[in-house]
Amino acid sequence: MTKTFDIVVIGAGPAGYSAAIRAAQLGMSVACIDNNLDSEGNPTLGGTCLNVGCIPSKALLDVSHKFHESQHYGDIGIEATDLSLNLAAVMKHKDSVVNQLTSGIGLLLQGNKVEAIEGTGYLASENVVVTDRSGNTEELNAEHIILAPGSIPIQIPSAVVDEENIVDSTGALKFSEVPKRLGVIGAGIIGLELGSVWNRFGSDVVILEALDDFLPMADARIARDAKRQFTNQGMDIRLGSLVTDSKVNDQGEVVVTFTQKEEEHQLVCDKLIVAVGRAPNTDKLFSPESLVQLDERGFIFVNEFCETDAVGVYAVGDAVRGPMLAHKGMEEGVMVAERIAGNKPLVNYDCVPSVIYTHPEIAWVGESEQSLKGDGIEIRSGTFLFSANGRALAANDATGIVKVIADAESDSILGMHVFGPSASELVAQGVIAMEMGSTAEDLALTMFAHPTLSEAVHEAALGVAGNAIHTLNRPSRK
Ligand code: FAD
Ligand code: AMP
Repeated sequence: MTKTFDIVVIGAGPAGYSAAIRAAQLGMSVACIDNNLDSEGNPTLGGTCLNVGCIPSKALLDVSHKFHESQHYGDIGIEATDLSLNLAAVMKHKDSVVNQLTSGIGLLLQGNKVEAIEGTGYLASENVVVTDRSGNTEELNAEHIILAPGSIPIQIPSAVVDEENIVDSTGALKFSEVPKRLGVIGAGIIGLELGSVWNRFGSDVVILEALDDFLPMADARIARDAKRQFTNQGMDIRLGSLVTDSKVNDQGEVVVTFTQKEEEHQLVCDKLIVAVGRAPNTDKLFSPESLVQLDERGFIFVNEFCETDAVGVYAVGDAVRGPMLAHKGMEEGVMVAERIAGNKPLVNYDCVPSVIYTHPEIAWVGESEQSLKGDGIEIRSGTFLFSANGRALAANDATGIVKVIADAESDSILGMHVFGPSASELVAQGVIAMEMGSTAEDLALTMFAHPTLSEAVHEAALGVAGNAIHTLNRPSRK
């Protein structure tokens, strides 16, 4: 029997479940299909983000940060001796957070009357999805179909994942013991976060990165400060190092071959994490008759409204252009549900915050100084160091900087960059300011509570016009 819905969503990650929930709230009948299974083979909602991405990685980052910090309590007068790590208990904590949130998605779908369907969805034509659960197929009809299949780790022939010694990001979230020597391929967001986790738990971490530049997408000043800080923390980040081969030897060690300045080198480690990026998960998702097209990089081709080339078929999240971030996918999912309901919202792609959850965290919104200058845009910027922020000093956590960049003529905020404690939270102030079209002066004229980390944002905004109070103002750079 064919079931009919107003909307069928394929994928229950952040992009898919957000679309499904919002569409149901707007009065439409919705089915949401997902094929994700946990390590025991049980269906689990929430996609990459909740199961093997944002949430478990942050659980490990937070715990490992606390562990690392506890070893320096003596600096602030707390004598804590004999602190030790129980990795099995850490993993249990991480798994319980994941379970709580993934089961929460089930409750949210149910509470909003979304029909959650276990299995693999296939777009057979513009209005027909076929689901397959262990060979049992079912046909679903819908006027609107939303594709939200997410992404999967990129595999490279020079480091084939064996799930034992050579792992991807998923394997790196469940080591049963702390590797003595850990290699990481890729100094992107995921490589730096996972490298930080195991570095803090005690691994000797070497990160091999093919590019000569460190974090080229971040503001250059922040990237430079962060690299220095991560190196001080003990992570050996080798830029310009292209991995060409990885083999497990008879002793169970991973021997990684890489070229640096045209010379071949080897790195021997106990575990190797391959963190070289993610690819859209579009294999066997739609038939050619559906008229959906992929772009030249393999992402589902969509316009700014997330409409594909097929009438009534939309695609959202990691499988379409733009940054692979959960919050970007959620906003796209909600936008599509609203547009199907006849409303006209847009996603503001100029205001997508990026965060790297190292310690200190790195976060930014808008453009970097180098990209604006490269585009010939005249800017003024203000910076403020956390080492001059009372609250950061009180918390013994005063490494980093805030930079606010504004258009030299209009004073509109074009970017905010934070490297420091709670950068992921502080950057939201820049996102809100930019969404509201604020000038740096608007932020400068706003009152901030004292003593707070947010005062660093205030001072950086004041600094754009050379009016900072708690640091010496330098002539504004254009
Ligand atoms: P996904 O979350 O990948 O969900 C897609 C779902 O669709 C999956 O459940 C999949 O099984 C299912 N599916 C696919 N095809 C089908 C089909 N044919 N039929 C049925 N079901 C199907 N982002 C952040 O914003 N912040 C972070 O801190 C962050 N940390 C991360 C850490 C790691 C280690 C990783 C790997 C990623 C991280 N990300 C983070 C990225 C984030 O996880 C993704 O951007 C987000 O999950 C994308 O959401 P999505 O809904 O597009 O896809
Ligand atoms: P991201 O896409 O941000 O997750 O980052 C992945 C990083 O991995 C990029 O900076 C790539 O340059 C890097 N990378 C990809 N392949 C290799 C390789 N074979 N050796 C070293 N680094 C690599």
